Amino acid sequence: MPSFSQYHSNGSYDHISAVTTLRCGQNGADLSRPVALKAVKPCVSLRRMTTSQFHSDLIFDWYDRHGRSLPWRARWPDLTPAYHVWLSEIMLQQTVVATVIPYFLEFIGRWPTVCDLAAASHDDVMAAWAGLGYYARARNLHRAAQYVCHDLDGVFPQDVDGLRALPGVGPYTAGAISAIAFGQPATVVDGNIERVLARFFGVATPLPAAKSEIGLHYDAIRPSARPSDFPQALMDFANAVCTPKSPGCGGCPLGQNCVAGTAGSPELWPVKAPKKEKPQRRGIAFVAMNEDGHGYLITRPDRGMLGGMLAFPSGGWTPADPSYVESDPFAAAPFKADWHLADTQVTHVFTHFTLTMDVALAHMRQMPDLPEGGFQKVRAASLPTLMRKVWGVARQKRV
Ligand code: SF4
Repeated sequence: MPSFSQYHSNGSYDHISAVTTLRCGQNGADLSRPVALKAVKPCVSLRRMTTSQFHSDLIFDWYDRHGRSLPWRARWPDLTPAYHVWLSEIMLQQTVVATVIPYFLEFIGRWPTVCDLAAASHDDVMAAWAGLGYYARARNLHRAAQYVCHDLDGVFPQDVDGLRALPGVGPYTAGAISAIAFGQPATVVDGNIERVLARFFGVATPLPAAKSEIGLHYDAIRPSARPSDFPQALMDFANAVCTPKSPGCGGCPLGQNCVAGTAGSPELWPVKAPKKEKPQRRGIAFVAMNEDGHGYLITRPDRGMLGGMLAFPSGGWTPADPSYVESDPFAAAPFKADWHLADTQVTHVFTHFTLTMDVALAHMRQMPDLPEGGFQKVRAASLPTLMRKVWGVARQKRV
């Protein structure tokens, strides 16, 4: 582990000396672990520290050689249409690039402009989104397309404040659209960029409290050149080099000036607040099949979990559902039938809880008096992931 004096005698590590000056008077301070910044007094300003040593040229050079070609990406001075940036950014929330690519191509193929998307039926948009998860995004996407098309004459705003008015667009997405589609000097800090900057500058404040501090670092290093390329270059770099678990510090172009890389323990950054364990929920889904092999499906209410999606009736796992009592599992059934429980359960992890779901099956010989929805051919591709899992169990058991 390099010592305080080794850093200092090197002379070229200004920001390292800045970090060490955060520990003024602590000779031999251990830099292998993040130290809470508020516990020590900075001797130089954050801005001076950040601007002096981060060389965006090195990131651009790396990006020019290794950056990904993506269907929604143009290279400066060309700019990606705002519709494509917005669509891809909404899809990429909580979802990896490889999963998003076919959905993105499908959407721009079916709806080449934001007004085409605005004019699409709600059901078509939700069905095209099926499988991407986090379905509130699809509802907001459709509402935002209608807002841009009808209220803004089909033209996306260029500035962050204007973009924030779109349903489903938060500060990161607004910054990304502003910078990538319009070349504006916006702050763009996603989880990947957060990781690189937390490591490079040795940010010791735990996330999420460190977000504003990291945003200040980003603003301080953001170059005026190639404004649309800069955040994309950092994202690709984070994805390929400064990875969460095994960053390639050895060949890293930023390595010489990086606090975490130089300390030899980059995986300790970004510092995270201890995770709370996710609560467990129980529920039950009801799969009824008629003589034609069609399944009984409903459209869930617009608001709430899996809102507006096709689904098997279910109980117990959201406040809006009928309650599920394990001792009387079929009390939540949508109609009377010869229900029986499959011996396989479905588990599904949502952002805020983990769900274990029983699956009740029934083969209908007589048609019930249906409260809503109806029997229809079940297309797994039109179902959200949880319901695809339920359908997988039902098919395995050959209802
Ligand atoms: S030196 Fe390591 S931790 Fe620092 S930016 Fe490079 S890959 Fe990331």
